[in-house]
Amino acid sequence: MESCDCFDTQGHQDELLVRYQYISDVLIAVAYFSIPLELIYFVQKSAFFPYRWVLMQFGAFIILCGATHFINLWMFFMHSKAVAVVMTIAKVSCAIVSCATALMLVHIIPDLLSVKIRESFLKRKADELDREMGLILTQEETGRHVRMLTHEIRSTLDRHTILRTTLIELGRTLDLEECALWMPSQSGLNMQLSHTLNYKIQVGASVPISLPIINELFNSAQAMHIPHTCPLAKIGPLIGRYTPPEVVAVRVPLLHLSNFQVSDWSDLSGKGYAVMVLILPADGVRKWRDHELDLVEVVADQVAVALSHAAILEESMHARDQLMEQNFALDKARQEAEMAVHARNDFLAVMNHEMRTPMHAIISLSSLLMETELSPEQRVMIETILKNSNLVATLISDVLDLSRLEDGSLVLENEPFNLQGVFGEVISLIKPIASVKKLSTNLILSADLPVYAVGDEKRLMQTILNIMGNAVKFTKDGYVSIVASILKPESLRDWQSPEFYPVPSDNHFYLCVQVKDTGCGIHPQDIPYLFTKFVQPHTGSHRNQAGGGLGLALCKRFAGLMGGHIWIESEGLEKGCTTSFIIRLGVCNAPPTNSPALRLAVKSQSRQLNW
Ligand code: ADP
Repeated sequence: MESCDCFDTQGHQDELLVRYQYISDVLIAVAYFSIPLELIYFVQKSAFFPYRWVLMQFGAFIILCGATHFINLWMFFMHSKAVAVVMTIAKVSCAIVSCATALMLVHIIPDLLSVKIRESFLKRKADELDREMGLILTQEETGRHVRMLTHEIRSTLDRHTILRTTLIELGRTLDLEECALWMPSQSGLNMQLSHTLNYKIQVGASVPISLPIINELFNSAQAMHIPHTCPLAKIGPLIGRYTPPEVVAVRVPLLHLSNFQVSDWSDLSGKGYAVMVLILPADGVRKWRDHELDLVEVVADQVAVALSHAAILEESMHARDQLMEQNFALDKARQEAEMAVHARNDFLAVMNHEMRTPMHAIISLSSLLMETELSPEQRVMIETILKNSNLVATLISDVLDLSRLEDGSLVLENEPFNLQGVFGEVISLIKPIASVKKLSTNLILSADLPVYAVGDEKRLMQTILNIMGNAVKFTKDGYVSIVASILKPESLRDWQSPEFYPVPSDNHFYLCVQVKDTGCGIHPQDIPYLFTKFVQPHTGSHRNQAGGGLGLALCKRFAGLMGGHIWIESEGLEKGCTTSFIIRLGVCNAPPTNSPALRLAVKSQSRQLNW
């Protein structure tokens, strides 16, 4: 603080000196007044400055100092008492404020120091954050490498290429001296070197799997540092190098390698792990860093996944090849079977035609013979001939129908026909036969049964005749009845069964035919086999009736082709039998012009009925 001693102007002659002091005091006063202004400006602008009041105090202190210098200007000359009083007041105020400021400063020093400490703490935090950022960046870098490596590894699905690519990419990314892959041998007793990056370890070298270090590696999923002297990492003499190389190894799980073929080891399934060994250059500078070890572990897992994918692909390709071979063989067999079926059908067609002619000759001549005068023995003999000839004729045409049904060459007709007329024809055919056996016949056509329908008249007729023929054949006395009706749309739902799905539509209706007899009946256990061709039940007392076991099999196929279903019910032997079938027929509004099919059917069926 400047002194403000009063000068005795008369005591000092050197006026120049006085002038200098005068000017200096003016400048000091101006400076003293300007500094608080600057401080006020600073306090105004820095909203968060914590020590505003100290600054205010400091400002007051400076203003007062300035004031003492300012008042001093009057002290250079003769001054009044008032000036002296003002000067004294200014000096006292300045002394008080300066001491108070000094004391305040003592108070705020710890605060200022703590601010300093906080600042250094923040600085440390910022450094740490920087380091963490660096770590994140490194991890990102590692992630990028892993993605790149994974992409390279997965871009191929050939196992050898995967392994080779892995070694090359790892070598490039981590700047390795050597990278090697050891696989378990076929016997499972050794680890054999299968792939190396720089061939510093000879491919095919082997080490016993029982080594403790291998066991340790197998038991940990992490990349482990292993000594450079370990047999897995021996890369020959380190001439001229004083620092041994840093080596890490990691296990590679062999997830699915059933047909892996490398040199002489082919079956590695269940052998567990391969081992990947990674060796850094022996320059004493490169050390394994944590993120590099992470990368190695991730790559090992990726290789495992890629290898398993490749193995699955190889297996599926193998399976595909096998399937193709089988398909080829199957195709050949199918062609041969088709040729055989054609040959059989041709043979059947020819035989059918060739055998029918003499059969018809026998039947016609026998019928003619029956008209002549015969002794009772001769009549029985001719009757037997006629009966058996009819049977053979039925068999011949059934066999042909069946084979045509089986190879799909039989196509149903879809023509309008007189539906009610079909039943009339059937009854007129059956009646004479039934009356010989003294059986009564009934035909009941429901009122809603349409007169005309669209479908295969001949096959419908054949089906009804087969069933009626059986009913007459297996009935000694009583009656045979036939009921025809339309299946009501509301009852179609009840028919949903694995074999039969009726589909209601406006253009179609379902015809239901039921043939009931009071004959020998069927043992319930035989029912499931009745529709199998060439199968006849062995139970029952009336099984002396000759037959080929083809009729119902044919009926079932016809019913199926006509979108329907056939079944037999019997309460047991000697309790009669009910054969029913449902077929789908088209609605026919106009009467058909003629019905050649029916006449043909009647002609052929009438010859085939045997009882
Ligand atoms: P087949 O030409 O031998 O009569 P089907 O296939 O027509 O062959 O009949 C198979 C078997 O079903 C017959 O042998 C017979 O035992 C039995 N069967 C069919 N219908 C009846 C029926 N109405 N009464 C008793 N048994 C029957």
